Amino acid sequence: MGQDLPIETADHRHTGLSGTLRRGFAWAGDLIVPPVCAACRGALSSHHTLCAACWRDVGFIRAPLCDRLGIPLPFDTGGPTVSAAALADPPDYDRARAATYFAGTAQRLVHGFKYSDRQELRVLLGAWMQAAGHDLLDDAHLIVPVPMNRRRLFWRTFNQAAILAHEIGRRTGLPVSVSALRRRRATMPQVGLTRAQRRVNMEGAFGVAKRKRHLIDGHNILLIDDVITTGATINACARVLLRAGAARVDVLTVAMVAGEVPLTP
Ligand SMILES: [Zn+2]
Repeated sequence: MGQDLPIETADHRHTGLSGTLRRGFAWAGDLIVPPVCAACRGALSSHHTLCAACWRDVGFIRAPLCDRLGIPLPFDTGGPTVSAAALADPPDYDRARAATYFAGTAQRLVHGFKYSDRQELRVLLGAWMQAAGHDLLDDAHLIVPVPMNRRRLFWRTFNQAAILAHEIGRRTGLPVSVSALRRRRATMPQVGLTRAQRRVNMEGAFGVAKRKRHLIDGHNILLIDDVITTGATINACARVLLRAGAARVDVLTVAMVAGEVPLTP
């Protein structure tokens, strides 16, 4: 399973601190900071978890799921089923899975991770992603995070998708490449755009680095991001990876915005 692919452990330009440094800080942090709920900061007995009230407020996405979009289906057919939404408008990627809906506790955690530099949340969010994406992880050869705009990378100092990708790589032993997929140009915010306009907005936004093409060609790629909102970004990434020869492209995220696609066929 992808044994021939080199692991890019040295490439931390997009994740800020080096892995060794970050692990050192996390280790030191565990010794001096008492464990608190990752969402509400209430006192707990262990790190990287939630209190009972915050757990109840996590909207985990549960099977049976549409095999393509990863949205819940109203009944179990006993095998892989594709929703009417996916049949009517097939995504460019093969399969998407998200651990939770982007609401309540999960939304607070993702915001904290993304905008408040709470990098320790990668442990909890990574565990959720691993559970939600076990089928995809079994088939994957290489993990690739959705790249962030350079300008945003500058202000936010780290790419949250790259941190999640490294966390999933650490948990599964799968190789990670943060530089195979590149952001070629900035894109407008997708809010208020029609589906067709979003597609145009994303055209040419991503590219595969020429010298990394061999990592993509003929391999099963697992794209990692924090949230699926409109799907325009992951579809654009999937198109570029497939054009570069990817055998299949699956998508794994922490959360998914409900309502962008119908939840029932
Ligand atoms: Zn709590």
